[in-house]
Amino acid sequence: MATISFYGGVGTVTGSKYLLEHNGKKVLVDCGLFQGHKELRERNWQDPPFVPEGIDAVIITHAHIDHTGFLPRIVRLGFNGPVVTSRATGDLLKILLPDSARLQEEDADYRNRHNLTSHSPALPLYDEEDARATLALLRPVPNDGNPVEICEGFKASFLVAGHIMGASLVLVEMDNGRPDGKPVRFLFSGDLGHYDQAIVKDPATPPDCDYLMCESTYGDRLHGDIDSETQMARIINEAAKRNGPILIPAFAVGRTQEVLYMIRELEERKKIPILPVIIDSPMAAQATQVYNRWNEEHDLEYASILAHKKHPLRTASMMTTSSRDESKRLNEMKGARIIISASGMLTGGRVLHHAMRVLPNENATIVFVGYQAAGTTGRRVQDGEREVRIMKNWIPVRCHVEKVEGFSAHADWKAVLRWLSGLKTTPKMVFTTHGEPDAAEAMAGHIRDEFGWNVIVPEYQQTVDLT
Ligand SMILES: [Zn+2]
Repeated sequence: MATISFYGGVGTVTGSKYLLEHNGKKVLVDCGLFQGHKELRERNWQDPPFVPEGIDAVIITHAHIDHTGFLPRIVRLGFNGPVVTSRATGDLLKILLPDSARLQEEDADYRNRHNLTSHSPALPLYDEEDARATLALLRPVPNDGNPVEICEGFKASFLVAGHIMGASLVLVEMDNGRPDGKPVRFLFSGDLGHYDQAIVKDPATPPDCDYLMCESTYGDRLHGDIDSETQMARIINEAAKRNGPILIPAFAVGRTQEVLYMIRELEERKKIPILPVIIDSPMAAQATQVYNRWNEEHDLEYASILAHKKHPLRTASMMTTSSRDESKRLNEMKGARIIISASGMLTGGRVLHHAMRVLPNENATIVFVGYQAAGTTGRRVQDGEREVRIMKNWIPVRCHVEKVEGFSAHADWKAVLRWLSGLKTTPKMVFTTHGEPDAAEAMAGHIRDEFGWNVIVPEYQQTVDLT
């Protein structure tokens, strides 16, 4: 008897957690934090719907916090088994999990100082010690499709998913223990990248499987033909003419590297002048190093740049800052320059200090390269508000406000169908997950229309028999 239970990533894009049970063994695939609305975030504080100590192993598809940010919580609650993941994902988790723990501690601290807690003192969901304990459980494996043993009766193969550095599709094979018996094969798409994305390879052809879980973030949307490079070149050229600074708020892991790659390309093709590029984020600098480390992840172009002993993420005049003093000294720089700093939605981090100087400056430009969630300062600026509150100060917005689209790391529904068309045999059942309800339903419809397969949109906490 084998089952799968859906404990997150259904009805929402966050909180991914899928529990496979087979012959008394339990393997959790992804262990993400719920994010967004309050009802979702409160789930992080409820007792998990499984006993953490009873989990034999965890498989992680990629490093994003909505797939990994609950790991230190289950470790805090008693999980002590291996966490199997690709090598690049393991390296990125060493940067992301301690940072997530610091944010949890700051949040608890804030609630204590403002008496926003019924528990006194408020405890964090987890702390840095829990994050370190989690990192000690990591078992990195190559993202190369070779099966590895997860625990008794469970094997898994990791293949490039093309979403972010290290992201994997994972085929889990559950052995029934009989020499003549066939294993139950369950393929998890993880988050799928789109084809021809910079830096990482295209998603690998899906291996044959009995069951398949398919993400549906863009189940009801298409990316369209957006030429992000042309947009970015125009913005940088205009800003250079004004001789003003350009501030790009960007998440330190992933988006920062994509932006750097694009700026270097534009410089080399002489589409923009060479400007000083300042990476004001220690996390971004660490992540950039991870990007060059594992060549199984790199697409042909990235690999060929590396082969010419060049750094694909290094622009012609680039500096990174680590200390706060260095960061402050940047403020004395004059003239056109590009500053990349986190957080990406102006919700915290060093970018706020830059924003306080850049926003009131008529010659300056702020460029958004990622989704700005409702309620964030980034969204307010993007929506054209003339004044925003940053660190208790009202800051007038007089700078140029720009947006470059097309940086999404997700396949749209047509790209998902293209990926699925690589399957040689029909799966018994497909589950569409990791989408808002409309997107998951739409993706299910597209798969039924295109292939005529059996597709289910699972519900939160639903368990399905796989035998
Ligand atoms: Zn992701």
